[in-house]
Amino acid sequence: MEIVIWLVLWGFVGFCAAKARGWNAAIGFVAGAMLGPLALLLYAVSSVTRKPAAEPMKVCGQCAEHVKAEAKVCRYCGATFKW
Ligand SMILES: [Zn+2]
Repeated sequence: MEIVIWLVLWGFVGFCAAKARGWNAAIGFVAGAMLGPLALLLYAVSSVTRKPAAEPMKVCGQCAEHVKAEAKVCRYCGATFKW
């Protein structure tokens, strides 16, 4: 039974961390539940390595990668933006 509590607890931590960073919260939950304390470490590292520049970004509808808000073409998959 303890394993369920453990999974939910770390899943919730991953969920919150993912939400705070604008990531997919469901993925954060699963990653947190599976990695446990390791997920926290991962989030800590990712927040350190993330570049500080607050450039406006948007998410590509085709490949879900983050691209600059002014971009007309996705630099990852080549999709063109209409917004
Ligand atoms: Zn793309």
